[in-house]
Amino acid sequence: MSEQGFTTKIVHSDRLLNLEYGAVHAPIHNSVPYGFDDVQGLIDVFQGKPGHAYARQSTPTIDALQHKIQQMDNGVATLVFASGMAAIVTTFLTLLKSGDHLICSRFLFGNTNSIMGTLQSYGIEVTLVDATNIDEVKAAQKENTRMVFVETIANPVTQISALEAIGDFCEAQKLVYVIDNTLTSSYLFDATSVKASLIITSLSKYVAGHGNALGGSVTDSGLFDWETYPNIFAGYQKGDSKMWGISQIKKKGLRDMGGCLSSQAAHLISVGSETMELRMDRQCDNALALAEFLEKHPKIEKVYYPGLKSHPQYDVAKRLFKAFGAILSFDLIEGEDCCVLLNKLNIVINATHLGDNRTLALPVAPTIYGEMGLETRQKMGISESMVRCSIGIENKADLLKDFEQALA
Ligand SMILES: *Cc1c(COP(=O)(O)O)cnc(C)c1O
Repeated sequence: MSEQGFTTKIVHSDRLLNLEYGAVHAPIHNSVPYGFDDVQGLIDVFQGKPGHAYARQSTPTIDALQHKIQQMDNGVATLVFASGMAAIVTTFLTLLKSGDHLICSRFLFGNTNSIMGTLQSYGIEVTLVDATNIDEVKAAQKENTRMVFVETIANPVTQISALEAIGDFCEAQKLVYVIDNTLTSSYLFDATSVKASLIITSLSKYVAGHGNALGGSVTDSGLFDWETYPNIFAGYQKGDSKMWGISQIKKKGLRDMGGCLSSQAAHLISVGSETMELRMDRQCDNALALAEFLEKHPKIEKVYYPGLKSHPQYDVAKRLFKAFGAILSFDLIEGEDCCVLLNKLNIVINATHLGDNRTLALPVAPTIYGEMGLETRQKMGISESMVRCSIGIENKADLLKDFEQALA
C-alpha cells in the first residue's frame, strides 16, 4: 500500500475495508449504542478488543476516517475529534499535568494562543518562543519540560518553524514533539520526516475543504518512546508501548472529555479528503501567482508568502514542502485602508476560515487577533492593517482580475 500515491490510497481506503454490498464509501452509522447477542462481546470491547460500544469513543464511520488520516499522516494510529481545537486541547490536557512545562511557538493560531493562558491557570508552565530559531527553543528547556508544540506555517505572517532542528532536539531530549500540520496538511508536508511524535490537523480546513464540516485529528507517528514519558497512567502502560500515548488520549480525552466527531461530519470530511491533492495543487498555484502579482503592486507594502524569494524561510519551505501553501497576507502602503479594499473585492468573500474552495479574506487586527491586543500582535509581527487571504480553487485569471480592480 505505502508505495501508492497519496490520492490513490485515500480514494480506495473505504472500499478495502470489505464493506457490505461493495459500497465504496463507509456508511454513516448513526447508532449511539452497539448491542451484542452474547454479553461476552460487550465485555471484550470494554476490555480492549477492537469493536464499538458507544459512539463517544468510536463508530464504524469514525474508524474509516481515522484509517484514512492515519495513512495520509504516515502514522501508527489516529483519533478524530469534533474540531481542530478539540484535538489540540485534548492532547494538552491528557498528556500534561500541573507542574509540567510546555515550549510553544509564539506564532500560533489565535485560539491555540488563547488556550495557553488557560493551561497556565491550571499550573502548566508555558514558554512562548520564536520557533523559527532553534536556539530559542533549546534555551527554553527546563527540567520539567515535557513537550514542544509548533505549527508548520503560522498564520497570518507565514513564519515557518525550524521543523527539522526541533525534531532532532526533541529526539535527543526525549520531549514529545507536537506539530500542528493544518496549514500544510499531510499532502504538502510529511511531519514524520522531521520526527514529529504527534501530528495534529484541523480537518475543517484543507482535508474537508468545502467549508461544510468541522473536525480535528491527532495521529501518533510511532516515533516517540512512551516508555520514557512520566505521565502515562499505570492502566495504559499495557501492550505495545507505541500505543500508550494515543490510548491515553482516547480514554482520558475522547471518552472522558467527550469532544467526539459525529459520523455525519466524518462522512463529509472523508468525501472531501478524496480531492485534497487536486484542490491543494490548484490553491497553491493560485496563491503563488497572486503573491507574485501583489508583491509588484505599488499599493502593497509587503506580502507574506513562503513561496516568495523574499520570505525569510523560503529555503526551508522549498526543502520540506511539496508547495508553498495557500495562505498569504499583505500590508497596504500607508494611507490605504484595508477595509475599503476588502469591500471592493467581488469574488473574494469577507470571511474567517481557511482551506475553503472559495477565496476568503479578512482584516486580521480587528478580527481573529483582536482579543490578544496590540502588544501581542506586535510581538507576533502582525501589523494593524494586515489582510489575510485563504486562496481558493477559482480560476486564476478571475482572482487576479478581482484584486487588480479592487486595488485600482
Ligand atoms: C483552524 C485551525 C485550528 C482549529 O481548528 P478548528 O477545526 O477550527 O477547531 C487549529 N490550528 C490551526 C493552525 C488552524 O488553522
